[in-house]
Amino acid sequence: MIYSQANDKKASILLIYTGGTIGMKVDPVLQALTPFDFSQILDEVPELGKFAYRIDSYTFDPLIDSSDVEPAHWISLVRLIEERYEEYDGFVILHGTDTMAYSASTLSFMIEGLTKPVIFTGSQLPIGTPRTDGKENLISSVEIAAAKDEEGHPLVPEVCICFDNVLIRGNRSRKFNSDNFRAFRSEDYPPLAEAGISIRYNRNLIRRPDSWEARPIFHTELDTRVSILKIHPGITPGVVRNILLGEDTRAVIIETYGAGNAPSKDWFISIVREASERGKILLNITQCVAGCVNMDIYATGKSLKAAGVINGYDSTTESALGKLFYLLGVFETNEEVKSGLEMDLRGEISK
Ligand code: ASP
Repeated sequence: MIYSQANDKKASILLIYTGGTIGMKVDPVLQALTPFDFSQILDEVPELGKFAYRIDSYTFDPLIDSSDVEPAHWISLVRLIEERYEEYDGFVILHGTDTMAYSASTLSFMIEGLTKPVIFTGSQLPIGTPRTDGKENLISSVEIAAAKDEEGHPLVPEVCICFDNVLIRGNRSRKFNSDNFRAFRSEDYPPLAEAGISIRYNRNLIRRPDSWEARPIFHTELDTRVSILKIHPGITPGVVRNILLGEDTRAVIIETYGAGNAPSKDWFISIVREASERGKILLNITQCVAGCVNMDIYATGKSLKAAGVINGYDSTTESALGKLFYLLGVFETNEEVKSGLEMDLRGEISK
């Protein structure tokens, strides 16, 4: 059910509330945080009414703590945006912070040729508490979702996260602080916009669609048979085998050291080679929070490359996971998936 708050003129925004801290307030009877009725969002954030936008809201049923997010939720979000695409100028998704970077990353791949803003936001403190960051986050997100350039095109036709006055590309984001208001960071790509007295857009960094007229392609096939292997000193052959050669695994993200390095021991390289020969897609992502994989610098990286491991460049793990879910869902052959991984599809890697 879509609730309409005002009938207007300038821009129309669909607020989609999936759950999470932002939509909570203290129930005076229960003395506990409970979700408030999102159709009454203007009562909670009357500042939104000053925009004179049309703001409609859609609430997930049931609401979820984002730790429970599943691919089925991403598919519902994409279907909802697809159904309502022509009706709105932008979409703001209110989402728990815990998995917001995963959801924003995956949605960026699921919508190909996006021409409108899809802005994720949330908060560290509920909207119903005095020091909440939720109001600022929501207000800035709505303003960004409605912003147009001189030609009337959306300023930010991307899937993004807007949090603590900074707008970052969704597939570059990670949650890095569990209690500071600056909960998200994009280490390898600068912010797309920053909100101060006014919102300053870094327009040269924002992606533009090939065509403003073409309708995006909304992909809803995801294949989640992906594992993550985090390399660490003391890792055993049994653990590496279980993950790399797992029966139900089509691809493994290997979180390596530094510029993409892993143990050079024979047992390790031979399991990697075996996995690759058995048709597992292996992607090298660095454990560092910033910087790029380069498998040509050290012998330990070179042997991974020789064993068939693909370079994940400066991808975050969240983005690599979403990209693999999408590529495995859409393409049949390993060759197609591998060539997709090598490409910068939505601004997720620097090549
Ligand atoms: N556990 C909550 C969630 O991710 C935390 C939050 O909303 O920030 O849904």
